[in-house]
Amino acid sequence: MTTDAFTSVVGRFDGTRDEAERYDRADPLGFLRDRFVHAEPDLIYLDGNSLGRLPAATADFVADVVRDGWGRGLIRSWNDWIDWSGRIGDRLAAHVLGAGPGEVALSDSTTVNLYKLAWAALDLAPHRHALVVDADDFPTNRYVAQGLARQRGLSLRLVHSDLDRGMDLERLRAVLDDEVALVILSHVAYRSGALADMAAVNAMAREAGALVLWDLSHAAGAVPVRLTEDGADLAVGCTYKYLNGGPGSPAFLYVRRPLQRRLRQPVQGWFGQRDQFAMAADFDPVEGIDRFLTGTPPMLSTAALVPALGLVEEAGVDRLRAKGRLLGELAVDLAARWLASLGFRLASPEDPDGRGSHITLWHPEAWRICRALADEAGVVCDYREPDRLRIGPSPAYTRFTDVWDALDRTRRLVDSGRHTRLPREKARIT
Ligand SMILES: *Cc1c(COP(=O)(O)O)cnc(C)c1O
Repeated sequence: MTTDAFTSVVGRFDGTRDEAERYDRADPLGFLRDRFVHAEPDLIYLDGNSLGRLPAATADFVADVVRDGWGRGLIRSWNDWIDWSGRIGDRLAAHVLGAGPGEVALSDSTTVNLYKLAWAALDLAPHRHALVVDADDFPTNRYVAQGLARQRGLSLRLVHSDLDRGMDLERLRAVLDDEVALVILSHVAYRSGALADMAAVNAMAREAGALVLWDLSHAAGAVPVRLTEDGADLAVGCTYKYLNGGPGSPAFLYVRRPLQRRLRQPVQGWFGQRDQFAMAADFDPVEGIDRFLTGTPPMLSTAALVPALGLVEEAGVDRLRAKGRLLGELAVDLAARWLASLGFRLASPEDPDGRGSHITLWHPEAWRICRALADEAGVVCDYREPDRLRIGPSPAYTRFTDVWDALDRTRRLVDSGRHTRLPREKARIT
């Protein structure tokens, strides 16, 4: 059991709860906590990177859209709703994604958007026959890549990144050549939290003549994303993680403006059609980002995103990043003090600049510990295969004392051995 991986942060904190309280008092984002629902005040929720908390304003906002928009306005409400995808897309572009107006739209799920943009990008390079994906990327991304490879007769090149440290640029460089049409990559790795160097990857791919399609699901709202500045061409991502849009809220997609007119997506639906309500006989994609839309958007879950996005804008991603980084450093520091001797080790990059807002700890009993924390200690975090406990203290509503208490409860639980009484079988949803 090495404790080496922990050493980099020791010394910054003194490890007392008083200190965590001082950080809370000095927290410029402390005011945000009350803007979220805390239905169980004693529950410590460290899973905001899987499903963000419910903002306090969301229920009424959605209820208004249901009662007034749907109930009273009926079909007439579409005159307003029809623009929401673009309006919210522009707000995401400006405040979260570092992109320009008309470059981001809300649409479908991340999985579907990944497929649409990858397909369109592959059409641009018909003489290239390879698709690159991180062997350790989030499952849906690998499955979509496998499907595309099968459907289009492409070869799939896997980059074997380090489970804990993330993508190694030299390993990526080694698979890039003039056969590669597209690289699919996550900005923040879902398991370890490793942060990929977006500018460097884009430059490397461009040199090889390939496009990169970024998945920003674990990055959006947690770390500053600079799509324009970092030379990104294509991106997709979720809005229900750090953006708190609610379960299944619509995903976003980004296409750099000069590329838009050259791309045609495979799902030719009427929301991507020029002059949609002319009901023309043949598909003719509209100019601009809307050509990547498909069918009627889910307005109730789109509505749920509106108050949530307002909170992220008010906080500012730079401030969220600064706090998220510090919460992660505190978690690593306390884990080093208390948990290393109980068999844990850090399974994330040591350098806080090299990871997003979640950290991961390895332990052979991670599954049972995760279950016992939820069932008996009031701490909700994630289990991730194989043998990892993922801790995502979302900076919008997590206090430093929450992290302190969660790590304290973890050490007590593991020290007592209570988790060993649980069955080893895994649940359907981990
Ligand atoms: C959460 C997540 C997804 C989820 O995609 P859905 O289509 O919303 O289910 C996709 N990619 C990554 C990297 C994720 O973290």
